[in-house]
Amino acid sequence: MTALPLPPSHRQLGQSDIAISPLAWGMWRLADAGCNAADAARLVHAALDAGITLFDTADIYGFGGASGFGDAEAMLGTVLAREPALRAQMVLATKGGIRPSRPYDQSAAYLASAIDASLRRLNVETIDLYQIHRPDILAHPQEVARTLEDAMAAGKVRTLGVSNFTVQQIEALNHFLVSPLAATQPQISPLRIACFENGELDQAMRLGLTPLAWSPLGGGRLLDPETPREAEVASVLDRIGGEQGVSRSVAAYGWLMAHPAGIVPIVGSQNPDRIAEGAQALAMRWTREDWYAVLVAARGEKLP
Ligand code: NAP
Repeated sequence: MTALPLPPSHRQLGQSDIAISPLAWGMWRLADAGCNAADAARLVHAALDAGITLFDTADIYGFGGASGFGDAEAMLGTVLAREPALRAQMVLATKGGIRPSRPYDQSAAYLASAIDASLRRLNVETIDLYQIHRPDILAHPQEVARTLEDAMAAGKVRTLGVSNFTVQQIEALNHFLVSPLAATQPQISPLRIACFENGELDQAMRLGLTPLAWSPLGGGRLLDPETPREAEVASVLDRIGGEQGVSRSVAAYGWLMAHPAGIVPIVGSQNPDRIAEGAQALAMRWTREDWYAVLVAARGEKLP
């Protein structure tokens, strides 16, 4: 059986001229992992050494930590202040629009202030990808679009993205944007396969959005399956990974990357060796049989 194409060594971020690595590294767990700035710098270097150039954080990450809201951004900001040369090596993505402790807010005044606050914490002049973290049902997409466009015009933001938006919410926001969205960030993993069949990835391909997969290992559950279905997914990934000399987690990244939408898994590990290991997914060869075997295990039933 013919193998599916290998993932490219670089992808474009949406239809922008920004090149990104086929894997990203995420900092959701950075503050919770009890990292100090030196630990965080080691992780940033581990990601760069592994060829990862796309770095994903959010203003809400680390909320509840030592300094409250913004801990993860502030930690990265400290790393960048100590080693300014790192900034040019990374494509920096962050998110806003969730207010502690959780009404969503994308009103013009709040969103504009959130972008400024992220820039300050990160110690940067520009955010390469600014994402709306979760949709605010009370914000009109035209107002959100205007605020985001203003941030772009001011040079604060280079490209725009959304996370956890429905197909219709993406369509509505994109309609009002002059600079179309570059990325969408849904939860995708071999344990979370909704977007393969609910139109989200089809829309990403149609609009030229880069899909960034959050929790690509199901938040770690793929390594510690809890149900018979999860155990079956793990066992199929182990079989395919074993045949190619890679681990279950690498096989999971490779499975996502083999999709034609160009999914970029966001590696969530805060362990340098596990971050480095992710790069092995670029060399994985997938046949249709193997790819669909994972999907069938994830569905828990045969294909029709
Ligand atoms: P994940 O890769 O699904 O899970 C990572 C977790 O799995 C870590 O706790 C990691 O622990 C653990 N793990 C256990 N064995 C592992 C192995 N062999 N290899 C790798 N990890 C292993 O990703 P995630 O952390 O849940 O999410 C990834 C990123 O997605 C976040 O950092 C964030 O950028 C983004 N995200 C976005 C949203 C959103 O709403 N947009 C929500 C959640 C996450 P160790 O650290 O000990 O390796």
